[in-house]
Amino acid sequence: EAKPSPSDVDKYLVESLHGSEPEMEAGRKHAHEAGLPHIEVSETRGKFLMLLAQISGARRVLEIGTLGGYSTTWLARGVGPDGHVTTCEYEPLHARVAADNLKASSIDGRVDIRIGAALDTLDALLAEPEEPFDMVFIDADMENTGHYIDLAITLGRPGTVIVVDNVVREGAVLEPGDPLTESGRMVNGIRDGIDVLGSNPRVDATALQTVGSKGWDGFALAVVR
Ligand code: SAM
Repeated sequence: EAKPSPSDVDKYLVESLHGSEPEMEAGRKHAHEAGLPHIEVSETRGKFLMLLAQISGARRVLEIGTLGGYSTTWLARGVGPDGHVTTCEYEPLHARVAADNLKASSIDGRVDIRIGAALDTLDALLAEPEEPFDMVFIDADMENTGHYIDLAITLGRPGTVIVVDNVVREGAVLEPGDPLTESGRMVNGIRDGIDVLGSNPRVDATALQTVGSKGWDGFALAVVR
């Protein structure tokens, strides 16, 4: 008999704990049909992000890496009707699909999609006289992870929750990557991010390894001091 796989267990957990939501799945399907890569968070991780936003009482969330708005929708649900999500995306097609999906979920009023390179958007946000963000989810180009964390700290306040996705990459994070390859640069970006989390006195961090429908990976969790 075949051994159960992490995907089988994810399926069981989704079915037993919350069920697949037709609207969320429709958004995912729309993104895949529009040709977007299948690199959104898994269902359980999406729900996890929503719960984390709720547990931390986040009202203002910053997301770096929108894709088709799948994790954005979970976060927007997590902040509730009075909350707000600012999400950064540089591919106009991704932003358009995300906008459609958020509208279909009637949650678009809580979300501001900023189109452009996230570093530029974060710079612009620094100049805006807004309240600090309560939670930041980093899930974009790995190369800039360290910069995104530094900026998330600056855009946050003591107590701001920072989540960084994909910090394990099947263990590749253990060794510096080859800077001549994209995957090597990604690993190096994550290692930079982990260095920032481990050395910046303004954050207290840890990370969890995960297995699931998307293989062996993990996320870092930090709180701004
Ligand atoms: N958080 C999404 C979800 O779970 O549904 C998945 C995000 S996907 C892993 C990464 C996204 O970041 C892609 O849509 C990509 O176009 C975008 N991206 C990559 N580099 C970026 C940059 N420098 N600025 C803004 N967006 C970027």
